[in-house]
Amino acid sequence: MLRGLMMDRPLLVSSIIDYAAEIRSDTEVVSARVEGDVHRYTYADSRRRIARLANWLRAYGIRPGDRVATLAWNGYRHFELYFAVAGIGAVCHTINPRLFPEQLVYIVNHADDRLLFLDTTFAPLIEKLADRMPKGMRPVLLCDRAHMPETGLPDPLCYEELLADQSDTIVWPEFDENAACGLCYTSGTTGNPKGVLYSHRSTLLHSMGMLVAGDGIGLRPGQSILPVVPLFHVNAWGLPYVMPLVGTRPVFPGPKLDGPSLFALMDQEKVTAAWGVPTVWLGLAAEMRKQGRAPAGLEIVLTGGSAAPGPLIRELETDFGLDITHGWGMTEMSPVGSLTLLDEGMKRAPAEKRLGWKNSQGRRLFGCDLKIVDDDGNRLPHDGVAFGELLVRGAAVMSAYFNDEAASAAAHDAEGWMRTGDVARIDPDGFLYIVDRTKDVIKSGGEWISSIDLENAAMGHPAIQECAVIAASHPKWAERPLLVAVLKEGRTATADEIRDFLADKVAKWWLPDDVLFVEELPHTATGKLSKLQLRERFKDHVLPTVEG
Ligand code: AMP
Repeated sequence: MLRGLMMDRPLLVSSIIDYAAEIRSDTEVVSARVEGDVHRYTYADSRRRIARLANWLRAYGIRPGDRVATLAWNGYRHFELYFAVAGIGAVCHTINPRLFPEQLVYIVNHADDRLLFLDTTFAPLIEKLADRMPKGMRPVLLCDRAHMPETGLPDPLCYEELLADQSDTIVWPEFDENAACGLCYTSGTTGNPKGVLYSHRSTLLHSMGMLVAGDGIGLRPGQSILPVVPLFHVNAWGLPYVMPLVGTRPVFPGPKLDGPSLFALMDQEKVTAAWGVPTVWLGLAAEMRKQGRAPAGLEIVLTGGSAAPGPLIRELETDFGLDITHGWGMTEMSPVGSLTLLDEGMKRAPAEKRLGWKNSQGRRLFGCDLKIVDDDGNRLPHDGVAFGELLVRGAAVMSAYFNDEAASAAAHDAEGWMRTGDVARIDPDGFLYIVDRTKDVIKSGGEWISSIDLENAAMGHPAIQECAVIAASHPKWAERPLLVAVLKEGRTATADEIRDFLADKVAKWWLPDDVLFVEELPHTATGKLSKLQLRERFKDHVLPTVEG
């Protein structure tokens, strides 16, 4: 081998904000704040405040490798923390406030966080857990003195005061690009949460991989993206890093994430693209139906995190003229693995064909290799038919969980590929179709029923707002599908009507044995349907097909 003679410059997160401050200096960063108003500044302003924060962190004694936690909505201060903490070589540990208190206590102690930066909204939550937090972990409230709440938190600091006394310039340290920059715990449905430790290198490479998708996902200079996807989970799908690179204008939504609030903010700020989980789009679609239009200027919706129901994609595209991109990913991979990126020719294909591709989980991003395997670990062909467990490999894919040998031991196969826990098929054009989670698939008489496909079909019924299919036990077939649905406001339907509706859309043996209507479906901390909770709730449900 002949070694190349190019500079070995480390790929560091700090280079992103420096680039934005220089090249995208005037691009606005907009934030709907907890304080109730809308805050605006530019990437250049942001870099100055990031420097102040970084200088304070160092003065406080934060050292490379130390963990610094955040518990905050999407806003400019949270964005500043991403860059200031990573910039000095420390690790930005984003915490999902929707975790159960027990999980939150576990992860803060497991990560051994030294500081906790929190929005005032979360002060009461942390107050209650204060005596179970790591010793010496100091809370910092993300506000100015006037907005400091009355709180029982031990020695709370005030964010704006910390920044006030510091220099607004900094020369970033240079260090190994393999150093950790971020930490995020998966809100695993069983056992303790597991920490994924992103490196500067993986973050930069993932960001560059995302740039390939560019235009199609709203990453355009000067145009606006509204990240509903939270900064507190999986790096908001990479947005805090790619938006400054491209010079895209972020419109951070703060705490109000319901359909009407999002609609109003998008309208007011002329947002071009919005990213979030399907539940958010179900809420927004309801508001769009009410108003009879999409928010002014909205063109692109990126949906991911769980399977987007086909009827939702169809409605947003055909009724409201939006361009939907469907993506798949995991906390363990930075997180985006695939997006429904269509070639120019594909974009001109008939609507049904286009919608078919958009119902897939998309094509892999550069740098993310995919393989599907059978039960013995043998590779399956990418013929669009064979399906099996999905494994991934790449420079932005986790090699082990943070300080968790037991969980790490089972995470990879013998060739070093990471197990996703998803069952998938891949077609010859590279489109990935997630059939199900391995845990959620319904095993009926030795055959598999995809809960995702069944939910997708049922979502086409005009009375269904949201639904989930889970396995219910059956003495003859082992498991049979049970559909649990929430009806749209003012609509009614019976179990038989739903089954009749499904009759020509799925195989006869896929039809749910029972349909139950509920007021609300449980969601996990990351907005996915919590099938674990549903299975628990309906574990004693006797299907009408069970003979007496
Ligand atoms: P998380 O680590 O919380 O982001 O969860 C990752 C898991 O979410 C994946 O392994 C999939 O099971 C699921 N997931 C993410 N995106 C999609 C999608 N577009 N369609 C179906 N499942 C998805």
